[in-house]
Amino acid sequence: MKVLVGGWFSLPRMGREIFSQLMRCGVEYDKGMGFRMSAQTDIESAVLIIGSVAGEEVDVSVRCFICGLVACPGCPYLDSCDRRRVSPLCLCHEHASLGDAYESYKLAFGANLKV
Ligand SMILES: [Zn+2]
Repeated sequence: MKVLVGGWFSLPRMGREIFSQLMRCGVEYDKGMGFRMSAQTDIESAVLIIGSVAGEEVDVSVRCFICGLVACPGCPYLDSCDRRRVSPLCLCHEHASLGDAYESYKLAFGANLKV
């Protein structure tokens, strides 16, 4: 299953103990939306639990810091990047290939600070 850091996903019904393990890893739960990982989540541990609940391998994707879209498709580092360990924010193909990526990054960072 694919899980986007910062995006909601659903899981099959699980026992109370597994659920509290997920909460301890910093996974959020909302009755209507489901589960969500964030920058505060211990993603490496959470992915192990999610994988065992879902019964399949978990493919973690991260968002682009600038546009907020899924950053992983088309990324040249996709195969070598361990997305359980990197920052949950990256740059999408479009924004990473701009010559002024660092300028865009600074602008987006400043905009986030003002929110
Ligand atoms: Zn982008």
